[in-house]
Amino acid sequence: MDEGRGELAGIAREARVLLERERARGRTRLVLGDAGTSEVAGPSTTEVLALPGFESAVPTSPAAPPIAQPLAPRTDLPQDLPSLATLVSTCRKCGLCETRTQTVFADGAPTARLLLVGEAPGRDEDAQGIPFVGRAGQLLNKMLAAIDLKREDVYICNVLKCRPPENRTPLPEEVERCLPYLEQQIALIRPSLICALGLSAAQALLRTKSSMTSMRGRVFEFRGVRLIPTYHPAALLRNPALKRDAWADLQQVRELLRSGGNA
Ligand code: URA
Repeated sequence: MDEGRGELAGIAREARVLLERERARGRTRLVLGDAGTSEVAGPSTTEVLALPGFESAVPTSPAAPPIAQPLAPRTDLPQDLPSLATLVSTCRKCGLCETRTQTVFADGAPTARLLLVGEAPGRDEDAQGIPFVGRAGQLLNKMLAAIDLKREDVYICNVLKCRPPENRTPLPEEVERCLPYLEQQIALIRPSLICALGLSAAQALLRTKSSMTSMRGRVFEFRGVRLIPTYHPAALLRNPALKRDAWADLQQVRELLRSGGNA
């Protein structure tokens, strides 16, 4: 027993040393193996860290397929975006259907390479039926322009398709009921890159409770598509000091789009 514990402590020590050394070299690829999502290396690094004693649990070839369900449309939902939007417009899967003016499905190009996901419609979006048309939307338009993109070049949607009363944070049950629609949108669009705007979108897609501080600056994977989490434009309006980090994230979006985007 003591011998086993000693051996484990030795492995842990070795792993710590190895991780520190690799991190110092700038290698960042970690396979989390959680619900098909993982953090992947930046565009220039493709190596995977193998811990002593656990080598076989981690794919060692850069070409190894990610541990994820392939990005394929669900068969229990419509197979095209207009039919999906029609289905969503009559959805009564949660209580938000009682308070919405209308559902807010998406805006932008179904052929877009970049898909942006926000949290949920706000007052203006609920009134107009279009995502990101209020103050946060105007800032989003400027952020896109800063990387030479227009709204018409990208696809914009939300985790929730209905406005939560008083713009409160979505409840876990609302996210669970609505998420299949977003997953179907992603599978039908097949973007090269997803940008999760804010904590709700990042947590919902990556199925994690991690904080934005711990996630941003890293590249994750959603079913084979690279995903960058960044601050929600509304957070940038409340706290302009966050814009510096958001700008760095946008640069990475531009880089990944230039280099192909796909994981
Ligand atoms: N905030 C969001 O998350 N989505 C919108 O569509 C508008 C504001």
